[in-house]
Amino acid sequence: MGELVWPSTFAERMQRLLGNEAADFFDALQTEPVVGLRLNTLKCDAAVLAALSIQVAPVPWAPEGYVVRESEVALGRHPYHAAGCYYLQDPSAMLPVALLDPQPGEAVLDIAAAPGGKATFIAARMQGQGLLVANEVVRGRVAALVENVERFGAPHVLITNEDPSRLAAVWEARFDAVLVDAPCSGEGMFRKNPAAASHWRETHVQGCALRQRHLLDDAARLVRPGGRLVYATCTFAPEENEAVIAHFLRTHPDFELVEPPSWPGCAPGRPDWVAPELAEGLPLERCVRLWPHRALGEGHFAALLRRQGARDPWAWRLADGRLTGRVRRDVATFWRETMRIPLPEKGWAAFGEAWHLLPVAEREWRDVSVVRAGLRVGVARRGRFEPAHALALHLSPEDVQRVASLSKEMAEAYLRGAPIERSGERGWTLVAVDGYALGWGKQVGRVLKNHYPKGLRWVG
Ligand code: SAM
Repeated sequence: MGELVWPSTFAERMQRLLGNEAADFFDALQTEPVVGLRLNTLKCDAAVLAALSIQVAPVPWAPEGYVVRESEVALGRHPYHAAGCYYLQDPSAMLPVALLDPQPGEAVLDIAAAPGGKATFIAARMQGQGLLVANEVVRGRVAALVENVERFGAPHVLITNEDPSRLAAVWEARFDAVLVDAPCSGEGMFRKNPAAASHWRETHVQGCALRQRHLLDDAARLVRPGGRLVYATCTFAPEENEAVIAHFLRTHPDFELVEPPSWPGCAPGRPDWVAPELAEGLPLERCVRLWPHRALGEGHFAALLRRQGARDPWAWRLADGRLTGRVRRDVATFWRETMRIPLPEKGWAAFGEAWHLLPVAEREWRDVSVVRAGLRVGVARRGRFEPAHALALHLSPEDVQRVASLSKEMAEAYLRGAPIERSGERGWTLVAVDGYALGWGKQVGRVLKNHYPKGLRWVG
């Protein structure tokens, strides 16, 4: 890493804020960032680390998270990565979901979700049960979110592309937990994004702070009485952190700031960095700060808020759609010939020719732009049913009748789109490496035809 350069205005404000600590802080910004890895507990456990032969250290706030100390493999281009065994995520970025503590069976909203680092973590903590709405307002960022959620194999996710104010109008007070991973000035990511350091401007901080207040207002409307709200940024600026929370608490008396668990490496919020008339009487030290000179990972800020009131039970109608007629015959034929698990009776819906299993009824999102609903199972076309890639990544080898277990080298060839020469029983076959599904193949004669999606294939 070359030397990071930032404007003198940034250096002066951090010096003013941090005083004696500033030298350590600036030194830390000039060191290499760490690599973080979070296991997908929907699919695997720590055995994956041994199989990858990597040396790791634990992340104090997330048992499924690790700092990678040594690795001989390119972790972002490994068949286990394509199989959704893990997500490469900075340890600090695991903190907001650890604070939110999502539970199986809850209704959870990630209001600014792309590319899905935190949404995939939430999905795994929920063990695929309940409802996770992963929303992203910027259309061009949604595809990466869909890809990551699919790779993780989570079946209970609704991916939406909406302005948060619209979500608030449609789903007022419906969620047990809401995450606001706010767009911010990104000071905490300078080591990973050096361009952001050189482009830093005080006016950008002010602009972000205004946007964050509005976003948090919308998010608060979505939290049910007794529900949780986590606000997070990856920046150091108090205007975007404690000041946003102070302003929020002043305007939302039905929310309180919750004392966080005392995880090693977490530093308290700084009430003294907020105007006294705004901070007075508020327990802003309950916010959490992660500093690059005090913990492993990038800079981060998070606050856990709770809405007063009693918690209502689950308030979402479940999907009751069934397969009928010719589609039912086609899906049933595919299922009988391919699967070992029972064909779900209810929860089906069609989007064009594609059939999905839904976490909640379609009428729950009538006025919301939904990009991906639940688990895409496959496409029914001209009397045939072709299984979706998302279904493969949701399955494990025990769920199907035919599995092609490939070596790492063969798996890499499959991920590049090559057909696999092998003998086997004719039909749809789950392609796997070490028991982790990678996608579909179709055995025809002595060749397993490659059905790994063209857009995901490894190039080179
Ligand atoms: N949660 C994501 C993850 O862990 O992978 C990262 C989210 S990033 C910090 C913030 C997101 O907010 C971006 O995807 C950005 O497109 C989105 N965003 C930008 N402006 C927004 C706005 N006005 N309201 C809501 N989201 C916005």
